[in-house]
Amino acid sequence: YGAARESSDDQKPKKAGKTTEKEPVYELVDSSNTTEATPEISEDDAWEKRVKAALKSLDKGVDQGAAKQILNEIVIHGDEVRWDDIAGLEVAKLALKEAVVYPFLRPDLFRGLREPARGMLLFGPPGTGKTMLARAVATESKSTFFSISASSLTSKYLGESEKLVRALFQLAKALAPSIIFVDEIDSLLSSRSGGNDHEATRRIKTEFLIQWSALQRAAAGKESKGTDSGDASRVLVLAATNLPWEIDEAARRRFVRRQYIPLPEGPVRVQQLRNLLGQQKHTLNEIEMRQLEDLTEDFSGSDITALAKDAAMGPLRSLGESLLHMKMEDIRPIMLEDFKSSLKSIRPSVSKGGLKQYEDWAKNFGERA
Ligand code: ADP
Repeated sequence: YGAARESSDDQKPKKAGKTTEKEPVYELVDSSNTTEATPEISEDDAWEKRVKAALKSLDKGVDQGAAKQILNEIVIHGDEVRWDDIAGLEVAKLALKEAVVYPFLRPDLFRGLREPARGMLLFGPPGTGKTMLARAVATESKSTFFSISASSLTSKYLGESEKLVRALFQLAKALAPSIIFVDEIDSLLSSRSGGNDHEATRRIKTEFLIQWSALQRAAAGKESKGTDSGDASRVLVLAATNLPWEIDEAARRRFVRRQYIPLPEGPVRVQQLRNLLGQQKHTLNEIEMRQLEDLTEDFSGSDITALAKDAAMGPLRSLGESLLHMKMEDIRPIMLEDFKSSLKSIRPSVSKGGLKQYEDWAKNFGERA
């Protein structure tokens, strides 16, 4: 179990509802199966067993259908993202290790004064690696990864969202250690979503905050142990937003930690380009890499990926139909010129003015990376 790797060619953060095709579909709990002893259990079998046990342990009030929907659509189970897959963001990685990974791996060391935060907000321009970080945290802390986009709660799942939110938190406890990653949290916790004109959205927001508070209380040991199934102290809510200023003040204060995920600096852009070109035949030398560093000012991580992918097509584009008959070794390497022509169409997705807004918010409310 753990987190899934976003295939390196995936430009968009993975949204809830998209799971890998191999993902098993969980059926109604069949109690006759759960006690069966299996001699050599594979990782998948072990995971299935945990899931069955978790479904059985849920409180009566939790809807089994909603729980299964969470397991099928929200739990990401499969390939992994690791720290090294993410270029730069060393400060953010360190903060996440201290806040989540170490406490999850060594809960005994993180008590009392060292009690870890139960929520962390990752904010910054789109495409800077917030989703990748959340996935890496899940992998490295050996946690079950629940990934939901808040906008899908208020659209796709609207109507069943409250049930879903309840099941989400219950399952996260039952399958702890768990990371609940909520992308686009602004759409759930904005001041607008509390307005009277969006009654349904307001109810989901309330339910989310109730469940989160209950989790925090349980983790702090203020709740009687009896009714609580699972380990609340090893569940963390990680949220990401490109619009931090939309989150209302009360909700914002619940995120004790707020980590700014900025655009990559020059050397980090080069590092990411090197990683992307790693497996490819190319002619770029040190000087040309420096040139690319200058040419990609204000690019986000996802802009860099898009640029490299487009440039990598360069050697094929000039071939036209004849590429169908070419041998791999006869294809020319990727060159600086390919990048230069791709740069004509691939431009930074965040404007200078837009950046200032993040910097200002970070200064007022965030920790800097
Ligand atoms: P966010 O959640 O901040 O919008 P993602 O983590 O979903 O951004 O990143 C989108 C894509 O951009 C990733 O799949 C990856 O290809 C690329 N990317 C973004 N930031 C980085 C990074 N720091 N290192 C490597 N790739 C990155």
